[in-house]
Amino acid sequence: MTRPAHLLVVDDSTVTRTVLRRRLERAGYIILEACDGEEGARLALQDRPSLVITDVEMPALDGFQLTRFLKAEPETSSIPVVILTTHEEGTSRYWGRHTGADAYITKDAGDDVLLEVVRRLLANAGPAAKSPSAGPAPSQDIVARVVRQLDDRLLQVTIINDVLEAGLSAASVKDAADRLLAHFSELLDTPRVAVAIIEDEAATVFVRRDVAGDNTDGLGTFLSSQLGRSGYLFASLEVTVIASVGGCSDESAANLEPELFHLPLRDAAGVLLLWPSSRPRRADAFSKLLGDTLPHAAVALDNARLADRLRRLSAVDDLTRVASRRAILSRLAEELERAQRYGTKLSIILCDIDHFKRINDTYGHLVGDEVLRQVAQVLLSGCRSADLVGRYGGEEFLLLLPHTALERAVSTARRLQEKLACGDMIEAADPDLIVTASFGVACDEEVETTRAVDALLSLADERLYEAKGAGRNRVMP
Ligand code: GH3
Ligand code: MG
Ligand code: MG
Repeated sequence: MTRPAHLLVVDDSTVTRTVLRRRLERAGYIILEACDGEEGARLALQDRPSLVITDVEMPALDGFQLTRFLKAEPETSSIPVVILTTHEEGTSRYWGRHTGADAYITKDAGDDVLLEVVRRLLANAGPAAKSPSAGPAPSQDIVARVVRQLDDRLLQVTIINDVLEAGLSAASVKDAADRLLAHFSELLDTPRVAVAIIEDEAATVFVRRDVAGDNTDGLGTFLSSQLGRSGYLFASLEVTVIASVGGCSDESAANLEPELFHLPLRDAAGVLLLWPSSRPRRADAFSKLLGDTLPHAAVALDNARLADRLRRLSAVDDLTRVASRRAILSRLAEELERAQRYGTKLSIILCDIDHFKRINDTYGHLVGDEVLRQVAQVLLSGCRSADLVGRYGGEEFLLLLPHTALERAVSTARRLQEKLACGDMIEAADPDLIVTASFGVACDEEVETTRAVDALLSLADERLYEAKGAGRNRVMP
C-alpha cells in the first residue's frame, strides 16, 4: 500500500491553515502545518513532506524566500512547492517563478484548481523523499543558511553581470578577451589564462603577458599541439598578446600543461585555457563558478565577434565589393606608417573613369553601376595580391602598392589603363561602349613625412587632374 502523501501547509493565518487542512484532508492527504517561513523550512528539512503549499506574505521568512531556500538545499530541492497567494501582480508571479516554485495559484482560484495542481505535481514528482532526518534543525541554522544562499546568489549574479558587461562594452573581440581574461584571472586565482577562438580553420589565441613571457613563437607551437590534442582542428594559429594586463612573469608557459574548458560560441569553437596556480582550489566551488560563468563569457565574446563582423562589413563597398573609402583610407595611413618605419616605398594610384556621367546619361544608371563593378574587377585582377583596391568616391578608385617605387607604380597604372581601354573587359549593353580612365600616380618618397597621407593624396589628385586636362585615358606622371 502506498503511503498517503504528506503536505506541508505554510501560512501565518490560522483560519487559512484550518480551511486548507479540511479541504486537503477530505481529499485524502495528511497535513502538516507551519505558521511562518522559518518554521516551514525547519519542518520541511525534518519531515520531508511530499509537497509544500506556502503563502507569500509571512513574518520572518516569506514564501519566496522559503521556496528559494527549499529549492537550493539538496535535501529538499526535489519537493514540489506551490505558492498560494492573494498577490496577482505580474512582478509577484515573475518572482515566484524565479524562486523555483512549481506552481503559482491565487487564493480565489477555487478548490478544484488547487487539488488538480497538487495531484499533477505529486504524480510527476520523483521517487518519495528520503527518510526524515534525525532531529529538528535549529532555527538559527536556517536563517544562516538563507543568508549564505542569498550571498552566493548575489556573487553569482554580480559575476555574470560583470562578464556580460565586458562583452557589451567591448570595442572588439580583442578588447572583450582582454576584459574577460582579467575577470577570470582574478576569480580563478591564476594570472595565466588565455582564450582561443577557432573559426574558418584559423585559431586566434588571446593570452595575457604572464602566459606568453617573451616566447610568443614557442607558445604558439605549444598551444597548437595542446588544442589539436583536444580535438580542435585548424590550419593556422596566431597568438595575440594582450598588453594591458599582466607582466609579473617573464617566464613563458610554453612548457606547462593548461586545462581546457569549452566556451559555447555560436558558429565557432571557443576554449578557455587555464594554467594551474600555486594555490589549492576547492574543486566543487571551482566547477560551479566555471559552469555559471562560461556560457555568459561565450555570449560576451559572441557579441564582440558580431561587432567586429559589422565593422568588417562596413569596410567593403556594397556595389563594387572592393574596400570602402573609410577602409582604404585607414589602410593608407597604416601602410604609410609601416613604410616609414621600415624604410620601404609606398606608391598610390588614383583612377577616375572618363566621362562617366555620359555613360550614365546614355545607358542609364544600372549600366553605370555594372561598369563600376567591372572596372573594380579589372583593377583588382590587374595588380598584385599585396596591393589594395578601394572605392575612393563615385567613379574614383584608390590603389595602394606597398614596396613599390614610383616607376613601377606608373607601369602598373599603364597596364591597367590599357586593359580598360582595350574594351573586352567590359561587357555591356552596347558593343560600342568603350570605358577609359585617367590615372594619377604618386610615391611617398616625393612628399614630406609629416601629414604624408594628405600630401600623397593631393599629389596623386593633381596628377590625375593633369591627365584629365591632357585629354584623358592616360597616366601621369
Ligand atoms: P571626368 O572624365 O571629368 O571624370 O567626367 P565624369 O563624367 O566621369 O565626372 P563627373 O564627376 O562629372 O561625374 C561622375 C558621375 O558619376 C556623376 C555621378 O552621378 C556618377 N556616379 C557616382 N556614383 C555612382 C554610382 O554609384 N553609380 C552610378 N551609376 N553612377 C555614379
Ligand atoms: Mg570621372
Ligand atoms: Mg570624378
